[in-house]
Amino acid sequence: MRLITITASALRKKMFAYGSVLATVLVLCLPIPVSAAGALPHFCYDDAQSCGPSYWGALADEWKTCSLGQAQSPVNITYPQTYYGPGPIMFNWAPTPLTIKNNGHTLQVNYAPGSYIRVNGVTYNLLQFHFHAPSEHTLSGAAADMEAHFVHVSDQGALAVVSVMMRGGWDNPLLGKILANAPAEGTEVTIAGVRIDANYLLPRSREYFTYLGSLTTPPCTEGVRWLVMEYGVDVGTTQAAEFEHLFHGSTARPVQPLNGRSILTGGGGHH
Ligand SMILES: [Zn+2]
Repeated sequence: MRLITITASALRKKMFAYGSVLATVLVLCLPIPVSAAGALPHFCYDDAQSCGPSYWGALADEWKTCSLGQAQSPVNITYPQTYYGPGPIMFNWAPTPLTIKNNGHTLQVNYAPGSYIRVNGVTYNLLQFHFHAPSEHTLSGAAADMEAHFVHVSDQGALAVVSVMMRGGWDNPLLGKILANAPAEGTEVTIAGVRIDANYLLPRSREYFTYLGSLTTPPCTEGVRWLVMEYGVDVGTTQAAEFEHLFHGSTARPVQPLNGRSILTGGGGHH
């Protein structure tokens, strides 16, 4: 196994030098953890390692979409030229008991049933929200300090993710509560008697960008309706640094090509 690893590492260096033919060889030679064993391999955000974003699609059969998909997320958003005017997002988020899961890649707050959004006649139920640092989506090429993802699913199984950019400013009290109670990697904790309200992570202005993309972590499943809020909320720079420290660096997948997809603007109205 050790010998194979060295070989793969040497090949990787050549791959950078000689391009995609050797990349194919690399994929065949990597000591890939086997799906037959049941467990999925480890992924990471450092492309200097074989678990990095460029390799996700090669790490497991179930993750092929990460490299083969043509409608991947995140993307860079430049201001659309035309206002297409999809309807506003109706937010119906309620407070929930504070349950935090540390899955080794992010802190995820699981949401109790009953909170949902409605957009263009479809209801999507809020399952959980979590964070990335720095942001995954970029606006005109610029990343924010963090990005919050609110993951929803419709009764038909369609995914919709509301994204909120978080920028250096005042400390975010809700994130502060989550950081203060962060459980150890691979564990989950429910804080007795504490309820939180995701509305405190929503900007007042409800304009948004929308496009069809994917999950930003393996298996990179496509068909995800992204609703990226145009305006962000505050996050303390030390809070963002603390989050990055928890996960040993960036948790942002690089932006993916649009491949002809259009980004629309929608929403309007204030809360
Ligand atoms: Zn996410």
